[in-house]
Amino acid sequence: YMARFAPYLSQSSEFSGIIIVFQDMTEQYKLDNLRREFVANVSHELKTPITTIKSYTETILAGAIEDKELSIQFLNVVNDECDRMSRIVSDLLQLSNFDNKEVEWEKEYMSLEKLINRVVMKLELTMKEKDQKVNIYIKKDLKDIYADKDAIEQVIINILSNAIKYTPENGIINIILNSKDNNNEIIIEDDGIGIPKEDINRIFDRFYRVDKARSRDLGGTGLGLSIAKRIVESHNGQINIESEYEKGTKVIITLPIK
Ligand code: ADP
Repeated sequence: YMARFAPYLSQSSEFSGIIIVFQDMTEQYKLDNLRREFVANVSHELKTPITTIKSYTETILAGAIEDKELSIQFLNVVNDECDRMSRIVSDLLQLSNFDNKEVEWEKEYMSLEKLINRVVMKLELTMKEKDQKVNIYIKKDLKDIYADKDAIEQVIINILSNAIKYTPENGIINIILNSKDNNNEIIIEDDGIGIPKEDINRIFDRFYRVDKARSRDLGGTGLGLSIAKRIVESHNGQINIESEYEKGTKVIITLPIK
């Protein structure tokens, strides 16, 4: 709490007491702290690729350029790190768009089945490379939902890419489309590495990752779930994660039909 004091003077300007105003600072304090933490995180996330790029270009300039093969190897690292920075920046821009203004969604009636097929097609190659199998189960006569197609596609891409990333070779991923009352449910479950109990509550926080090194190696930014949550909630839906460490993870997305 913050307290402000002021003398209270009566009409004849005689001192007759003190006014004390208590202001609850908890919210403001929390926000300031979050903002500080966020800026620190962003700086740190960008600093890592910058340091890598700097050291590799320096090595090339210091003479490695004479060795063509080595140079190509180093330049590939530089290239990958640039891609990574660009992913972080575009994810951040998207999140800051959500923060700064009411996003105007272009809602229309859309088929989840078509959307899932489209996303699976986009990610098929990555799954093939890991010999992963995907099963799709769709309830008959599933109703269309009223939503922004691109936004929901992004949600599914983020969640399915996680399922692929955090599931070892030969894993199985199930996608289930179901309807319940006035909602459609999208379930994406994998039999991958799972999430320890103590991390589950923080998993939607910006930049939070169970294993930073692993996520980084797999190209993650730590922002995918935050973005997915923002999109789903601004469609009046919900996103929940159930997971068992070393067994697998199940993401349940509920979206209203209307
Ligand atoms: P990232 O870019 O690191 O994947 P996300 O915001 O998408 O960021 O996810 C945050 C973290 O949640 C991941 O780093 C990972 O530790 C964990 N996670 C997300 N999905 C899964 C999953 N299907 N299986 C295991 N861990 C997961």
